[in-house]
Amino acid sequence: QLINSAIAAKHDSTTSIPQPPSIITRDFVFDYLIVGAGFSGSVIAERLASDGKTVLIVDKRNHIGGNAYDCYDEHGVLIHKYGPHIFHTNSREVFEYLSRFTQWRAYEHRVLASVDGQLVPIPINLDTINKLYGMNLNSFEATEFFKSIGESREYIRTSEDVVVSKVGRELYEKFFRGYTRKQWGLDPSELDKSVIARIPTRTNRDDRYFTDIYQAMPRHGFTRMFENMLAHRNIKIMLNTDYQEIAKAIPCREMVYTGPVDEFFDFRYGKLPYRSLEFKHETHHTGVFQPAPVINYPNEHLYTRVTEFKYLTGQEHHKTSIVYEFPQAEGDPYYPVPRPENQEIYKQYKALADITPGVYFVGRLATYKYYNMDQCVAQALVVYKQIALKA
Ligand code: FAD
Ligand code: UDP
Repeated sequence: QLINSAIAAKHDSTTSIPQPPSIITRDFVFDYLIVGAGFSGSVIAERLASDGKTVLIVDKRNHIGGNAYDCYDEHGVLIHKYGPHIFHTNSREVFEYLSRFTQWRAYEHRVLASVDGQLVPIPINLDTINKLYGMNLNSFEATEFFKSIGESREYIRTSEDVVVSKVGRELYEKFFRGYTRKQWGLDPSELDKSVIARIPTRTNRDDRYFTDIYQAMPRHGFTRMFENMLAHRNIKIMLNTDYQEIAKAIPCREMVYTGPVDEFFDFRYGKLPYRSLEFKHETHHTGVFQPAPVINYPNEHLYTRVTEFKYLTGQEHHKTSIVYEFPQAEGDPYYPVPRPENQEIYKQYKALADITPGVYFVGRLATYKYYNMDQCVAQALVVYKQIALKA
């Protein structure tokens, strides 16, 4: 069995190249073993199943949906167990693909930041600076203002460079430095520019967090969408199961792996850092808790942000549930940490992954990319096409 030999080879520290099997002794029970029932694994499972392939999808958690999992809490409020997930994409292909499994509720996300005792829009826009500095600038004047405070940089390499060059040191300190140090345990000067470049700076009054063409939430939640995606007779789902427990017992022709890539190879090149979070969920006996879906706290508290779910889901309920996010060094892997030294370690794992027969590495953890949900779907669709071409 191809995947068994790949698994055996990863335990063999004398060989750096996993060896293909010489003899196939048993019939395959499933065509594909898919590790992880998040976006990456579920999309590939659905695509392969609709091609007539048999698929076993396993997840060590007790639910499908990966980090996008949502559920009703004990008060009946729909919450996102692993923090706020807001769907947005510029890809028509991704949006149309997911639309096969859900209806949508239009939703444009907005975030306020608690800075200098005020709640102001983030991304920084015209209203942010007018409110913060008691000014009354127009868009043109705001452009000039940013130009006057931005520090010139020959190269934009780090996340600090991105912000300081655009809006100067003071706004950098107020909105970004503290938040980033909390979130990543690193200074922005130690992080790749791509991290903070996710947050634009605006000179107009647009206060949306995202500007993608498609912005919407699954009308009945993410989990329902995953249920629809995986409801195919060719797909069997096994929860509470680490793939290593069953991979040898249940022969499959090939494997799609969406867990952490370093773990797959038994940390052969050392641990890849993944940043973790602790979520503190609360329910309040009031209709509304805070004036925005998310409030960011760059400079106060040990948590980074507070999310009130009813804004995201549109649910009407006399109570309201919120979540605080406390960044952690240890715990479940949530974020790959984009910085050059980690990229070097990942490159070694990637080289090994590329020569591991019968295993496809897909998703945020397995390809060590700070991907949003839509990017995971897009990547999974590409990998599926590669698999289909080969089959
Ligand atoms: P995951 O969802 O992590 O799924 C991998 C699965 O593999 C997990 O369920 C895990 O249990 C399972 N697994 C791992 N190892 C094993 C094993 N050995 N055996 C069996 N199972 C295993 N994206 C957005 O687009 N918008 C947002 O607003 C947004 N907000 C986010 C907020 C937070 C706090 C976080 C952490 C992420 C957010 N994301 C957001 C990103 C989004 O969560 C990811 O892009 C997406 O969910 C990744 O899907 P995935 O399938 O690659 O990985
Ligand atoms: N960020 C910040 N201040 C903010 C919001 C974001 O410094 O108020 C930085 C921080 O480093 C964060 C990154 O920008 O990790 C990306 O923010 P985003 O909201 O996209 O993070 P995610 O939703 O993926 O956690």
